Amino acid sequence: MTDTFTSHFIAGAAHEDAAGTPLAVFDPATGETIADLHEATPAVIDAAIASARAGFALWRATPPAERARVLHRAAALIRARNEELSELETRDTGKPIQETRVADWASGADALEWFAGLAAGLSGEHIELGGDFAYTRREPLGICLGIGAWNYPSQIACWKAAPALACGNAMIFKPSEVTPLGALRLAEIFIEAGLPAGVFNVVQGRGAVGAALSARPEIAKISVTGSVPTGGKVYAAAAEGTKHVTLELGGKSPIVVFEDADLDSAIGGAMLGNFYSAGQICSNGTRVFVQNSVLPAFLERLRARTETIRIGDPKDAETQMGPLVSDAQGEKVMEYIARGREEGAELVTGGTRLRPEGCAAGFFVAPTVFAGVTDDMTIAREEIFGPVMCVLGFDTEAEAVARANATSFGLAAGVFTRDLARGHRMAAALEAGTLWINAYNLTPVEMPFGGVKASGLGRENGRAALEHYSQVKSVYVGLGPVDSPY
Ligand code: NDP
Repeated sequence: MTDTFTSHFIAGAAHEDAAGTPLAVFDPATGETIADLHEATPAVIDAAIASARAGFALWRATPPAERARVLHRAAALIRARNEELSELETRDTGKPIQETRVADWASGADALEWFAGLAAGLSGEHIELGGDFAYTRREPLGICLGIGAWNYPSQIACWKAAPALACGNAMIFKPSEVTPLGALRLAEIFIEAGLPAGVFNVVQGRGAVGAALSARPEIAKISVTGSVPTGGKVYAAAAEGTKHVTLELGGKSPIVVFEDADLDSAIGGAMLGNFYSAGQICSNGTRVFVQNSVLPAFLERLRARTETIRIGDPKDAETQMGPLVSDAQGEKVMEYIARGREEGAELVTGGTRLRPEGCAAGFFVAPTVFAGVTDDMTIAREEIFGPVMCVLGFDTEAEAVARANATSFGLAAGVFTRDLARGHRMAAALEAGTLWINAYNLTPVEMPFGGVKASGLGRENGRAALEHYSQVKSVYVGLGPVDSPY
C-alpha cells in the first residue's frame, strides 16, 4: 500500500518537486513500499527558506499566550489521533505498536503541552541602575533547522519544534531519509491547530540536503539528533556561519549494578535500556557493569527473561520487539555480534538473525547478551544501535566509576543500588548528561536531556531548552542628559 504522501510541507501546504531524487520509504517489517517521495531540490530549499522567513515575521509578533493556545491545540489533536499516528510510526520505523502507542507521539504531545505552558511566561528582567535602568528582552533566534535521526522520528520533530515555536522561532525540519513520514503529519496538525503558514516546514532528503540547509546564511540555529560524525559536520557548518547549535548525539552509556540493588529491577532496567526499540536508542545503557558477587545470578535471570521477549510483526499488539529500521542497520548489528565473538566475549543468548512468520523481509535480530566483556573489546567501545547488551564484572565502586567514564561518549548513565548515598555519589562521579538512579531511559519532557563529551552540546526539554531557542537582548535606557566629554 502506498499512502498519499507529498514529499515536503512548505508555506502551510504539501509541496512536491518531482525533479528531486526519488526516495522510496519502506516498512522495515515487510519491505513493502509505503510512500514514494523525492529529495529536496535547490528550488525546494529556496522555497522552504522563503516560507520560514515569512512565517517567522508573523510568529515572532504573535503574543506568547496565543502561541501557547496553538501548541495546546496541536497536542490535543495528536492525543485524539494517537492510534492512527502510532500505526504510521510503526510502519515507518518497524517499532512495535505497543511502544509507539505510549512512547512516540505521546511524548511529542507532552512536549508541546509543556512548552505551551512556558510560552506565556517568557520574559526578560528589569535592571535598576540608580536613575537610568536597563531591561532585557528574551527574543527568538529566527529560522531554526531541525535535523532528525530515524529512531524516534515524530518525538524528535516535536521535541525540537515545541521549544522553538514556544519561543517564537520558525522551523525547517529535515527528517531522516529512512523515516520521513511522521514530520509531514505533524506539519498538517500544526496548520489545523492554527499555526500560521510557514512557521513549521518539512524538507526531505539525505544528508546532503541537511548539509545544504545547514550552510544557508538565513538559518540562525541548527539542532541535530544523530551520530557523532554527523554532529561534527553540523558543528563545523554552524561555526562557519556563527549559528547557534544543539547536538544530540550517540552514546555508549554505562549502567552500574551494585550487589545491594533490587536485582530484578536492575535486570528490568538493563533490558529496557538495551532492547526497547530493538536497541535503537541513543541513551541505551549498553555497558552493564555488574558487581562480581551478584554477576552469576544477574546473568541467569537476565538470560531467562530475555528469552521470553516476543519478537515478530510490530503491528501485532503482543509483539515486544520488531525489526531493525533497515537492512543496512541489521547488517551492521550482525557484524558487531560477529566481532564480539571473535574478540572472545561469551554469548549468553541471542546472536542470530530471525525471520518471524509474515515478516520474512524484515531484518530481525534476536535480543543478544554478551558476558565476559572487557573494556577494550570493540562491542564495549563503539555504539552498536541494536539489541546487543554487554555485561562486564567489577569489584569496587571506584573501579566502576573509572571504567564507566573511560569513553569519549557521555550521554547517559544509570546506577542501581539501595544505598542512596552511593547513588548520589555515583550521580556526581559519572560523566553523563543524564543519570538515572534505580530507573533507566525515562525521559519526561520536564527534565533536560542531552550529552557531555562527544555525546553533544546543549539540552533538549526542560527549561534549559528555552535557553537554546532564544537569546537575550539588553536595552539601556538613559533618563538624564548625556554626559559627554566632547
Ligand atoms: P545520522 O548521523 O546518520 O543522521 C542524522 C541526521 O543527520 C539524518 O537526518 C541525516 O540524514 C542527517 N545528516 C547526515 N549528514 C549530514 C550533514 N553532513 N549535514 C546535515 N545533516 C546530515 O544518524 P542516524 O539517523 O543514523 O541515527 C542514529 C544515530 O543518532 C546514533 O548514533 C544515535 O546515537 C544518534 N541519536 C542520538 C540521540 C540523542 O538524543 N542524543 C537520539 C537518537 C539518535 P539522512 O540520514 O537522511 O542521510
